[in-house]
Amino acid sequence: MIQFKSKREIDRMAVAGDLVARAFGEIAHLLQPGIATGAIDDRIREFVSGEGGELLFFNYHGFPAHSCISINEEVVHGIPGDRQVQEGDLVSIDIGVKVAGFCGDSARTFAVGEVPEASRRVLDCCRMALAAGIARALPGTRLSELSGAIEGVIRGESLGLVETFVGHGIGREMHEEPQVPNFVSEVLLKEDIELKPGLVLAIEPMVNSGTGEVKTLADGWTVVTVDGGVSAHCEHTVAITESGPRVLTIGPGEEWPPLEGTPGQ
Ligand code: MG
Ligand code: MG
Repeated sequence: MIQFKSKREIDRMAVAGDLVARAFGEIAHLLQPGIATGAIDDRIREFVSGEGGELLFFNYHGFPAHSCISINEEVVHGIPGDRQVQEGDLVSIDIGVKVAGFCGDSARTFAVGEVPEASRRVLDCCRMALAAGIARALPGTRLSELSGAIEGVIRGESLGLVETFVGHGIGREMHEEPQVPNFVSEVLLKEDIELKPGLVLAIEPMVNSGTGEVKTLADGWTVVTVDGGVSAHCEHTVAITESGPRVLTIGPGEEWPPLEGTPGQ
């Protein structure tokens, strides 16, 4: 069942979302060649815990770290560890927190230095797809229209749309109904809903340079592209309000839509 949130509850979710955004602010400058992903995860844990937030991914179905960090061919659910960031990498970082009973969930993909053209295309497309989805997070719009807007951007660029993983409702729990696919399917059209104020969604397209096919590595977590191409993942927690989409996981001084050249949006 979909849990609709009151204005007051959405304000509380914005507190969690703000902490996620500030955690990204804490680590953005660390993303330099040579840093291990485990060190980035340590900083996220220190910062979020220090601010009174609970990190939602730690021990989620046994996940062994506090954030997901996925580099290049890794799509999502990368386990932070010894892998070092290198010049030219695309680094996708996903952070989920709970503050005072409410959740925030956001992923940003960072380009480290000069990245290859294919990586730049994937990143730009993923950001545009997220922006197109957020722009449809309006009362009276169908969920399938939001999904279709994301799909249109990715298919329009002839890039790989990852169908295996989807966005989700979010609130007191990280994963609530409904699922938010990044494409339109028969199932979605059959179960389609009208978006209404109080619905809060984590919208999260994943875009690959080749095909959208993915597989999970033997560690049981890390999802990679089957063809070895690069991938990006961009996610915001967005409340549908009478006055339009309210992006809850942007921080102080950040704008939505992001200003040209804003890192990691
Ligand atoms: Mg996430
Ligand atoms: Mg999510």
